[in-house]
Amino acid sequence: MLQVGSYRIRAVSGGRFRLDGGSMFGVVPKPLWERVAPPDESNRIDLATNCYLVEGNDQRLLIDTGFGTKLSEKERRIYAAQPEGGLVPNLARAQVAPESIDVVVLSHLHFDHAGGCTMRNESGEIVPTFPNARYVVQQKEWEAATSGLPEWAGTYPEENFRCLESTGQLELIDGEVEIIGGVRGRWTGGHAPGHQVIIIEDGGDGAMFLGDICPTWNHMRRMWCMAYDAWQVDVRRIKPELLGMIADREWWGLSDHDPNFAVARLARVPKQEFTLTLSATRDIPSGL
Ligand SMILES: [Zn+2]
Repeated sequence: MLQVGSYRIRAVSGGRFRLDGGSMFGVVPKPLWERVAPPDESNRIDLATNCYLVEGNDQRLLIDTGFGTKLSEKERRIYAAQPEGGLVPNLARAQVAPESIDVVVLSHLHFDHAGGCTMRNESGEIVPTFPNARYVVQQKEWEAATSGLPEWAGTYPEENFRCLESTGQLELIDGEVEIIGGVRGRWTGGHAPGHQVIIIEDGGDGAMFLGDICPTWNHMRRMWCMAYDAWQVDVRRIKPELLGMIADREWWGLSDHDPNFAVARLARVPKQEFTLTLSATRDIPSGL
C-alpha cells in the first residue's frame, strides 16, 4: 500500500497471464530478453495484470480492469489466463464491492486492460462490472476501438466496452485531463491510438501508472518495446520522458504487467536509462 498525499493506492491483481516473449520485446533478440524473462515451452512469458485502487477524498477510483471473465476456453488456454475472474474476487478480499467504485479509468481498450469492464449477468447479458462507476477513456481510443477499421481487426472486442455507452457510464476525455482532484489522465498514444498514463499528484507526492508505455520493469530501456506498439517510435520517445519524471521527482512508478513488482522507485543510470532502486525491489510485492 502506498500513500500519495491524501490518496491510498493499492495494487489489485486482475489475474496473471502469458504472452509470447518475442512479441513482448519487439526488436530485442531472444538471447537478451530470455535472461530477464525466461519463456515457457510455448515461448510465453509470465505477466501480471495489475490494477490499482486509488482511495481518498471520498472517491474510489480503479485503474484498468484486467482481462475479466469473458474469455473463451481457447483464449484462456492461449494466454494461460489465471484465475477465472481475478479482479472482482481480489477486490472482495480487500473488502471492496464493485458497486462502491466511483470511477474506472482505462489506460486503453485492449482486452487485458478493458476485459474486466463488463461481465455476463445470470441471463447471459453483458453488463458493466461496476454499475455505479463512470468509465473514463481517451476519445482517440474510443474512436479507434469503435471504428470498425480493418487495421484494428481483433484488437478491440466490443463486448468489453460497448454497453457503457447505452448505460450512460462512458466519459471521454481528450489530452491531459483531471479526473478527480489530483488524479489526471495524460494521453500518450504510442502503444495504442488513445493510450493514456494516469498521474496521481497530491500533497507534494506523486505516482504514475505507466500502462503499456513500459509494461514491465524490463522494458525501461528505450529500445525495449513491444511488437504490439502501434507507433513504436513514439513509445521510444515518450517512455524515457515519463520514466524521467518518476525518477527525478521521486514519484512511485506503477506497473501494469510486471510479474514481480507492482510499484517501484526509479533512478537514472548512465546513458539516460533507468533502474529500480533497492527499496522498491525489497519491499513491494506484486498484487495485494
Ligand atoms: Zn497490456
